[in-house]
Amino acid sequence: MRLDKLLSNMGYGSRKEMKKLLKSGTVLIDGVPAKEGKAQVDPFKQVVVVNGEKIEYREFIYILMNKPQGVISATEDREHKTVIDLLPVEYQVFEPFPVGRLDKDTEGLLLLTNDGQLSHQLLSPKKHVPKTYFARIDGEVTEHDQEAFKMGIILDDGYETKPGDLVILSSGSTSEIELTITEGKFHQVKRMFQAVGKEVTYLQRISMGTLTLDPVLKIGEYRELIEDELVKLQ
Ligand code: URA
Repeated sequence: MRLDKLLSNMGYGSRKEMKKLLKSGTVLIDGVPAKEGKAQVDPFKQVVVVNGEKIEYREFIYILMNKPQGVISATEDREHKTVIDLLPVEYQVFEPFPVGRLDKDTEGLLLLTNDGQLSHQLLSPKKHVPKTYFARIDGEVTEHDQEAFKMGIILDDGYETKPGDLVILSSGSTSEIELTITEGKFHQVKRMFQAVGKEVTYLQRISMGTLTLDPVLKIGEYRELIEDELVKLQ
C-alpha cells in the first residue's frame, strides 16, 4: 500500500502534515528514510518507524458500541449526529461503518468495523444470524402473541417474517419481552408488534450472533472487541 495511506490510516494527520513529516526524514521503511507519500510499503512485512516509534499496523478495527438514542447508525447524515461522530479520530481514521442499522430511538449493541467481509457475513439473509432485542411494550403480551411470532407474522407490507422467538419477561398493561429474530427488515421488531396491535415504547439490541452487549458499557460508550469475541463471531 502507499505510505501516505498507511500513515493516514494510523492517524498521522492531514496530507499536508504528512508531507511535512516525510520531508523531515523521520519516516523510515526498514531503516531507510522515505520521503515520498507514494512509496509502496507492506506494513505486515516491513518495519515502518515514525519519529523513532515503530508502527504496529492493523488493517481492521472492530468496535462494540452501546448505541444511545438520538444518533443515526450511518457514516454520515446532514442533520443528525451519527454513531461515527461518537468515536475519537484514532478510530475514525480506519473508516468504520455500522454493521446493520438500528433506528434513531433504538439503543444497544452496535458493531462498527471496516471489515466488509465480516459485515457481509453477519448481514447476509442466507446466514440467519440471530439478533436479540429487549423491548418494552404498551399492552399485554400474551402466549397467543408468542405462538403468532413463532409461526411468522405478516407485516404491513404483506411480508411474512421468519419465526421469531418471543420470551415474555413480564406482562400487564405494559410488558417486557425479549425477541430473537434472524432477519433485519426495516423497523422489524416494531412492525411485528404493530401487526399484533401493540406498540414498542423502548427497544434495545442485546445480542447479534455470538456477540452480546457488555453490561460494563454505559449508553454511548464503546470498546474494541477482544480476540475471543472476534474469533467466535467470524
Ligand atoms: N427492529 C426495529 O424495529 N428497530 C430497530 O432499530 C431494530 C430492529
